[in-house]
Amino acid sequence: MPRPPADQQRLGVALLRVSTEKQFQEGESIEAQRRKVEFVAKRQHIDIVSFFVEHYSGRKTDRRTLDDMFAFLEANKDVSFVLVGDIDRLTRGGTEIYLALKRRLYEMGVELIDTTGIIQPSRNRLEHLGVEYSWAVESPSHYAEIFMAEKARAEASDILTRTIGEQIQLTRQGYQVRPPNYGYQNVKITTEDGKKKTIMEPHPEQASFIRRIFQLRAEGKTTDEQIAQHVNAMGYKSRVRRVFDPVTRKVVGMTKQTKMTAKQVQRLVRKPIYCGIRLEAWNNGVPVEAPIEPLVSVHLFNAANRGEVVVSKQSDGSPKVSYNSVKYKNHKHNPEFLLRHVVLCPVCGKPFLASRSKSKSGKYHGYYHCSRGHKHRGYAKAEFEGTVANYLVSLQAKPGFLGLFREVVRDVWIQKNRARFEAQRTVEDQIQLLQTKQASVIDKLAICSSPIVLKRLENEVEEIEAAIEEARKAAPNSQINEADIDRFFQIAKMRMEHPEQAILNAVAKPEIERDWGFIFETPPSIEEIQNGTPQLTLLYRFNRDFPMDERQMVAHTSLHWNTFECYLAEIISQFPGLNLGDR
Ligand SMILES: [Zn+2]
Repeated sequence: MPRPPADQQRLGVALLRVSTEKQFQEGESIEAQRRKVEFVAKRQHIDIVSFFVEHYSGRKTDRRTLDDMFAFLEANKDVSFVLVGDIDRLTRGGTEIYLALKRRLYEMGVELIDTTGIIQPSRNRLEHLGVEYSWAVESPSHYAEIFMAEKARAEASDILTRTIGEQIQLTRQGYQVRPPNYGYQNVKITTEDGKKKTIMEPHPEQASFIRRIFQLRAEGKTTDEQIAQHVNAMGYKSRVRRVFDPVTRKVVGMTKQTKMTAKQVQRLVRKPIYCGIRLEAWNNGVPVEAPIEPLVSVHLFNAANRGEVVVSKQSDGSPKVSYNSVKYKNHKHNPEFLLRHVVLCPVCGKPFLASRSKSKSGKYHGYYHCSRGHKHRGYAKAEFEGTVANYLVSLQAKPGFLGLFREVVRDVWIQKNRARFEAQRTVEDQIQLLQTKQASVIDKLAICSSPIVLKRLENEVEEIEAAIEEARKAAPNSQINEADIDRFFQIAKMRMEHPEQAILNAVAKPEIERDWGFIFETPPSIEEIQNGTPQLTLLYRFNRDFPMDERQMVAHTSLHWNTFECYLAEIISQFPGLNLGDR
């Protein structure tokens, strides 16, 4: 659809995005974004007829605003521009969301403009041929946009990590970063260093219910059911939470009041926080004394838990929490020496052997070793596994890499399929030709009487048959479809976020072999891993060399396409059970 030139009336809408989370709000208010967009609109002679304001949280996108915007664009065909504050804000969800949005706008004949000027107008690469396919329409800034989108996502993740990092720090010091436990309320205090931190203090009404539960349970004369009834009779009120409207972020109601139950009694009584000990996963399960007023004494806590949960002090005075019920023990399946199947001996190139020996102190030590026809090579287990883990960690996906490579793969796939289609046609033509030739030879056969000529013609028929067979084999067939590419990159994303985890947590040989094949072109020796010289698959090679020129990336991918496609198809078939839903 041709767009109105600058001297005609040009209409557009603006899409402003604001985070509902504090850490993302810094930088630009809605007002600042609006001014920026209006400035660019004026410069480009575009009248903004409507503003759409989207509230988003973290990486999640609320589709409603976008839906409204698209509905508006559908209803107002004379609007041909969407202006966004900056691409970074638009693309925090990463490439997929961004590209989907852009393609949809393109199909509607609407152009996307960002105030930072990164996005450039799309053009049709096949315009000179007078045809248009969605894959051929590409903006000159295509890769730059993808890069920005991926980078923005990585940064969003950084910000989240940083904030959560701070919260973990506070938790470790015993401060409150979450809603208070039942029986407490959160209060802000100013600490010695002048910073505002949150602690919990006993809630004037709720605290008494908790105390009563512990007392009754310690006395041991009532069932948990009766305790629950007793507390309800005391006028127990469950905490109600505010319910927010997802769009306006305004309070629209409260959650329902519920009664105390026996199950809840059992859950509450196990929580060491009530005797002043904080125990959280964020603190690696190490208990810390929280700077709060305990609702019950350690003595009462232990009595109420009847030995199932015991709070005690260690010799250094630090608190200790032990769970004595069997169901709380953690039986982690921990197969050892799995790496011996995949890491090779640098001398003979065979897999390592593994064994354990008992030292004088009575401790067991593990070794990876090999001496098959050569001088003994041995590595202490911890060191060996540390070397492998360190190397694997270095394979983590670099910001922006996966999104860019995925687009490159998608583009090359399209190119190759086009080439394949043409190649297939050539092969079909060739087969047709051979079949015609064969038919005429057979015709000749029918009227031939000379045994020698007959024999020669028969041979000729067979030769043509073989040639047809050959031609059929030459017909290229794509092994993968577009959904496979998406799936592959979902797997790659999971694997490359924490590259060492899958390998080090593998529980059986086939699993570790599969994961190894995902990363390594050929299984490396321990020396290659030490030196950082293993032969990686294309995916990991590109990541290692990233950032690289995207044209180079396209060229390499195209050159090694057949190998890569086989690899991709194999990976897809090997990782069938992965849950690839949004995490
Ligand atoms: Zn060896």
